[in-house]
Amino acid sequence: HMTERTQWDHPKLVKAMTDIGMMDNICYTAYRSAMKLRHLQKVLRLDLIELSSLSNALHNCLPQTHMDDFIMDAHQLRKVVQEIYSLTRNRGHSGRVSTNECTDLLVNWILNVYDSQRTGYIFLKSFEVSIAALCSGRILQKYKYLFQAFCFDGGHMSKQGLEKMIRAFVQITDFLGETTNLGAGVSATVNSCLSTVFMSSVSQDEFVSWMMSEPQTLIWLPTLHRLSAAETVKHEAKCNICKCHPMVGFRYQCLKCLNFDICQTCFLTGRSTRHHRYTHPIQEYCLVASSRDEMKAFVRTVRNKVSKKHGRRLKQKYLAIEEDKQTDGRDHQSHHDNHFQTHLHLGQLSKQLEAVELDPVFQSKALNQGAASKQTDDSIREKSQAGVKDNLEELIDALEKENE
Ligand SMILES: [Zn+2]
Ligand SMILES: [Zn+2]
Repeated sequence: HMTERTQWDHPKLVKAMTDIGMMDNICYTAYRSAMKLRHLQKVLRLDLIELSSLSNALHNCLPQTHMDDFIMDAHQLRKVVQEIYSLTRNRGHSGRVSTNECTDLLVNWILNVYDSQRTGYIFLKSFEVSIAALCSGRILQKYKYLFQAFCFDGGHMSKQGLEKMIRAFVQITDFLGETTNLGAGVSATVNSCLSTVFMSSVSQDEFVSWMMSEPQTLIWLPTLHRLSAAETVKHEAKCNICKCHPMVGFRYQCLKCLNFDICQTCFLTGRSTRHHRYTHPIQEYCLVASSRDEMKAFVRTVRNKVSKKHGRRLKQKYLAIEEDKQTDGRDHQSHHDNHFQTHLHLGQLSKQLEAVELDPVFQSKALNQGAASKQTDDSIREKSQAGVKDNLEELIDALEKENE
């Protein structure tokens, strides 16, 4: 029989969920999930929380509870969350964080995700996954933190640890109603990681490099990072579809149509024109493109136009995971085809993200709100001019070889 469930949600969380519902017009699962979580991240002020505040709060409130299956009651959860926000306030965010309201909201959301039946208990490690995933840290730091949090086996993460972590991730997309669209469940994802090492546990390096290959179940996480990096970026380019200028957010450039730029809204809602088709290969820019980036894209566009060899066979840029049909009868393949096609066209995204987060301009912008030093600009300009020359030579070489 149905379980009776009375559930009260904070009005601000109800509002956030309504806002999230309006994002269903975004065509691609990875972006849609990332956009929804970006909105929640801001409402819950998780974007101001540092990884160190999470680990310090756990240390302060729950010392000696680092067993892998520790279960928190609602009181302990509240205490930890409160501590996280007061540590965040102390780190210079007192104006933007109201400890009580943020605590109410985050506890509410965590219980909706991990304790929808309201038993009053959740796994500490599940909580840790959600905060680590949605806090402000760099993606590589997050992967290392997660490994350490689930590593109970002398420097290795066991299959059981991996399973618990992936389940906690999947519960986040379950909450959004996106797990089926992402196309693979917990066990298929765990097997994908372990199949890279042919063992029943992984080392930190093995785990991090698997995460960096962007397994499809978790693809929203690197997408979320690119999204937040791109959010306030203005590109001096005009959208060839809606004519907006300058573009704010992601900028997309077609690598088949010459000089064809697409803004974030047009791209994510799948708008096309008579000449440009959504099947064309696309370059995504988080940051303002350097002249080197522009030249690279130009080179690739010319290749796609001139050469029959290029731009035909599309290489997968994320790690596809095949669902085990015997344990799970649902047909994920159709979803998979519809929602992941975009990723087939985008460049090496994890490499790009790494570059974005380590980019000195981006870092100084993040620290000083946009005051990048002139010296950095100059050194980048010099490097990019050298890059343009390399690329042209590379292009001429390639075209000569093909026409021999
Ligand atoms: Zn547009
Ligand atoms: Zn095109």
